[in-house]
Amino acid sequence: MQLALRPEDEIFRREVRQFLKENLPRDVAEARAVGVSVPKLLLKRWHKTLYEKGWVAPAWPKAAGGTGWSVTQQHIFQEECAQANAPSLMPFGLSMVGPVIYTFGNDAQKAQHIPGILSGDVWWCQGYSEPGSGSDLASLKTKAVRDGDTYVVNGQKIWTSYAHEADWIFCLVRTDDQSKPQEGISFLLIDMKTPGITGRPLVSIDELHHLNEVFFEDVRVPIANRIGEENKGWTYAKFLLAHERTGIAGVPQSKKAAEELRRIAGTERASDGKRLADDPDFQAALADIEVKLAALEITNLRILAETEKGTSVGVEASVLKILGTEVQQALQTLAVEAIGYYAHASHRERLEGRSNAPVVGPEYGETIFASYGFGRAASIYGGSNEIQRNVLAKAVLGL
Ligand SMILES: Cc1cc2nc3c(=O)[nH]c(=O)nc-3n(C[C@H](O)[C@H](O)[C@H](O)COP(=O)(O)OP(=O)(O)OC[C@H]3O[C@@H](n4cnc5c(N)ncnc54)[C@H](O)[C@@H]3O)c2cc1C
Repeated sequence: MQLALRPEDEIFRREVRQFLKENLPRDVAEARAVGVSVPKLLLKRWHKTLYEKGWVAPAWPKAAGGTGWSVTQQHIFQEECAQANAPSLMPFGLSMVGPVIYTFGNDAQKAQHIPGILSGDVWWCQGYSEPGSGSDLASLKTKAVRDGDTYVVNGQKIWTSYAHEADWIFCLVRTDDQSKPQEGISFLLIDMKTPGITGRPLVSIDELHHLNEVFFEDVRVPIANRIGEENKGWTYAKFLLAHERTGIAGVPQSKKAAEELRRIAGTERASDGKRLADDPDFQAALADIEVKLAALEITNLRILAETEKGTSVGVEASVLKILGTEVQQALQTLAVEAIGYYAHASHRERLEGRSNAPVVGPEYGETIFASYGFGRAASIYGGSNEIQRNVLAKAVLGL
């Protein structure tokens, strides 16, 4: 594997860096994200800027509206975005349903949905999980029954991230309960304004509203909104999950977080008055994470190098998910330890961008506890780490 970048990649890196310097608004870079998002208005503005530059969908093929960048260029772009504090864009349209629509959708569906996903004018959410159907997703029960040229949908989804901000939801529904669970599922695109859809917030441990329950009561959805064939939704659902796991290791973001932690350690003091940066225990804990992160980065680059040759990512995604989320959570835990009492001083209105009251404690401490709390979810969503270990046990160890 060639680790050194080629001269043209270095030129590309400088171009991205310059673009970010000139175009990433300060208020967007300074908005501290918890979960996947900074406030919607700011995120939409940044989405639009990338869209106008033609850089909003680095992983999409050029024909579908992507950049046509190599895997290395995509990696460089992510690294530079993390370094510049650019927020991650909402993944539900760009990384999830968009690739499903341009791969399996018909021409009318592509024409209707792709432009809004790329421009960021239409926001999506993911209606997969249900009470009792998370890891065992194929057992889902939300039912869609044909009536003329519509399906009538009844049931409930849960943990639906940002459903309260979304315009559309992509949903897995049961269209056949007589065959094997995986063979009776269809993939529907549903306008959130359709009568019969209601939502209820689920406030998470960070006291913020990212998550929802979504209820469907006799919701009429045109059959034309179904992706691909009836009862073949599981195929599209799995394809989407593979895209969801792209970049799941979050290496550029963790590198940035480790740097930030080193900076904090230069300021914060331990109970004996010494700087944390001079405390051997703290240094050892941080070094331990950084070593794991360096190993993860090389593994990630090795896997990327293989995909550059045309191999698709398989079980390696499970390794990246487990190690990536473990590193993220270790960094979040150490950050809480670093700022001590102030870790609890953030307050909800400020995190939601609704208050300009002064921060209690250092500015950098504001989101540390919220990120720590919400960060526990990283080893659960997108397929829990236990499930990823099961995948590895079967596929790699042959157990
Ligand atoms: C913050 C957050 C955001 C989310 N966003 C979305 C979203 O936008 N849309 C959406 O559809 N879903 C979303 N989810 C749901 C997520 O996909 C599920 O939580 C996840 O799949 C786990 O399912 P579950 O919660 O039902 O837990 P369960 O499946 O009930 O699992 C409970 C525990 O048992 C373990 N377990 C289960 N089965 C096994 C097994 N066979 N072997 C070993 N251990 C096992 C799990 O690892 C877990 O620790 C989100 C979840 C979170 C926490």
